[in-house]
Amino acid sequence: MPTFTDTPPEDPRGPSFQIVRTPTGKPLTAIVTSETMVGCYTHFWKRRTMPCERPDCEACRNGIPFRWHAYLSAYLSGSLLHCLFECTAQAAERFVDYRDAQGTLRGCQFTASRMNYAPNARIIITTKPADLTRIQLPKPPNIEKVLAILWNLPIPEVKADRQGTKRGQKTVTHRPRPTREQTDGHPNPAEPLPTNLQNELDQLTPNPPQGNPKP
Ligand SMILES: [Zn+2]
Repeated sequence: MPTFTDTPPEDPRGPSFQIVRTPTGKPLTAIVTSETMVGCYTHFWKRRTMPCERPDCEACRNGIPFRWHAYLSAYLSGSLLHCLFECTAQAAERFVDYRDAQGTLRGCQFTASRMNYAPNARIIITTKPADLTRIQLPKPPNIEKVLAILWNLPIPEVKADRQGTKRGQKTVTHRPRPTREQTDGHPNPAEPLPTNLQNELDQLTPNPPQGNPKP
């Protein structure tokens, strides 16, 4: 006899979170639930976003550009979606400023929009403390663990390689680098976002822009 249940079985690795990026058109408004952000260099390769595994990185060896992205957990109070918000290093500066001023990112209400309708247009972030009198923020996830699940990484490996940067951000990469001490092994972090990556990002945003033609 089968065993019937009214709830799906739990993923033993933990809950899954959707990644949300800044849409073109309509701005995204959300409240940060994590205390801080987690940053990582990534490639868009083989039709997916994956972490850069320098100094032993197959994507790097194939000349695939890499970019640093920040991840923080965010709550969209309208749709009740608790997700991971991903943004560029330049956009993440606003969160660094907020964290420096407030001591935490949790409770930071932010709006993310783009300068114009180009899918890779510069991201604009505005922040302010959220009014939490009527919103109960969910508990933040372990962001490294969520990323490991999304990227299909063995979780212990991710825990083994956590590095701080000079600005206090956390960096997570696939493999431990016991022989390297510097954290700035990426000489060119300002690569333009490939169009195909942005298309992927746009498909994943929960509030797709209206009337914005996709190539
Ligand atoms: Zn790489």
